Amino acid sequence: MKPSPTMSREFIGDDKPREACGLFGAFNHPDAAKMCYFGLYALQHRGQESAGIAVAESGAIDEYKGMGLVPDVFDMDILDGLNGSSAIGHVRYSTTGSSVVANAQPLVARHRQRAYAVAHNGNLVNAHHLKAELEDSGSIFQTTMDSEVFLHLFVRNLNLGFEEALKASVARLKGAFSMVVLTSRGELIGIKDPHGFRPLCLGKLNGTWVLASETCALDLVQAEFVRELDPGEIVIINSEGVKSIHTKTPKIRSFCIFEFIYFARPDSTFFGHNVYLTRKAHGRRLAEESPVEADLVMPFPDSGTYSALGYSEASGIPFETGMIRNHYVGRTFIQPTQSMRDFGVRVKLNPIKELLKGKDIIIIEDSIIRGTTVKTRVKALRELGVKRVHLRVSGPAHRFPCHYGIDFSTKGELIAARMTVEELRSHLGLDSLYYLSLEGLLASTGIENPENHFCKACFDGCYPVQFDENLSKHCMEMK
Ligand code: SF4
Repeated sequence: MKPSPTMSREFIGDDKPREACGLFGAFNHPDAAKMCYFGLYALQHRGQESAGIAVAESGAIDEYKGMGLVPDVFDMDILDGLNGSSAIGHVRYSTTGSSVVANAQPLVARHRQRAYAVAHNGNLVNAHHLKAELEDSGSIFQTTMDSEVFLHLFVRNLNLGFEEALKASVARLKGAFSMVVLTSRGELIGIKDPHGFRPLCLGKLNGTWVLASETCALDLVQAEFVRELDPGEIVIINSEGVKSIHTKTPKIRSFCIFEFIYFARPDSTFFGHNVYLTRKAHGRRLAEESPVEADLVMPFPDSGTYSALGYSEASGIPFETGMIRNHYVGRTFIQPTQSMRDFGVRVKLNPIKELLKGKDIIIIEDSIIRGTTVKTRVKALRELGVKRVHLRVSGPAHRFPCHYGIDFSTKGELIAARMTVEELRSHLGLDSLYYLSLEGLLASTGIENPENHFCKACFDGCYPVQFDENLSKHCMEMK
């Protein structure tokens, strides 16, 4: 029997939250599809289920997409067949819609001798409502993805003219959405929602304009960073240059703070603040807020690495890599029998006995979502003879689900929503457990007035875009 993704995911000891998607777009490049391919490579961490590229040529849009990682989906023959000077690309991890190739992006729609492709990162909280409204008036949906709603709205609004259709369609969407859109005339469009939940930046390489979820993708294709799109901004890129349209936005931005903690690649930069350096600052702050005596500090690999470096720097406790990850473990492998179950943990990760036995250690994690992996790894450390295990988390406890495109969308999944910190410490078999305070997290971003910049709903329950009366009531109570 083939293991289901869930079974194998638990087995390989990875219950980290998943990002929804990564976006890339190129305008005016002789090999636009190949440029997208490299851009998507840099964004692979944002989605590993499917990858796709759409390219505009001679008034039409050609596309190729498939399940798997970027290098599994594309080869040189496929890329050679995607001719055109404008293209968009997408890597996906599904948070709405099933993980099937029909739901891979970019999505392409053909309408009155024109074609449009869209790739989306985020989650539309009113997609159900809009879809029902569109279906009632005759729309037929080809996928189960919320992103398709945008295409339907857009083509219905085209009688208003191209720009007005974009504005009118975006105005109907609620939730988190960064998008890249390609037209069969070769125009490239970037859209960011009014709250600015998900990242999207503009870059330039000679005469080529580039849009990308993260600056690390610009670096890979050697494009110069121009700027991040503003919340509520639409940029239309064509042979006349870049036209920017600003739509109505709330006063407070809601950039997902979890991009800084976990999702984004450490070599990316948001608001002029590098992710690697910000994670180190989280670790320094953690050491100030929760000092503890120990022989060494180590990440619970790999995502806590930079905060562990910061903790070590601030506390003077040596940093060590106490667990070695096997980087060659695939996404799925054979499910072990019960008697072999412990092998599973070590397939991916092996602690270094000679380093850890008899020691007091501090382990740094960036988040505890379901808690299964942490529990298993702590048990493995105990079995090895580690004396004391202190866990420090470089973000506050996840007590509320995310409705903006990250894959913990129900409260029941979140172990910190069901237990107090003390109950969780005991459940995980730890000597001590501490989460970075929300104030500490915000302060250590180094951004001025950080409370006006970020969504932090999964920590404090204050949702910038409301979707449920009970949740909004909770937020009011918290205030
Ligand atoms: S709820 Fe949390 S994970 Fe979701 S967008 Fe807000 S900060 Fe990010």
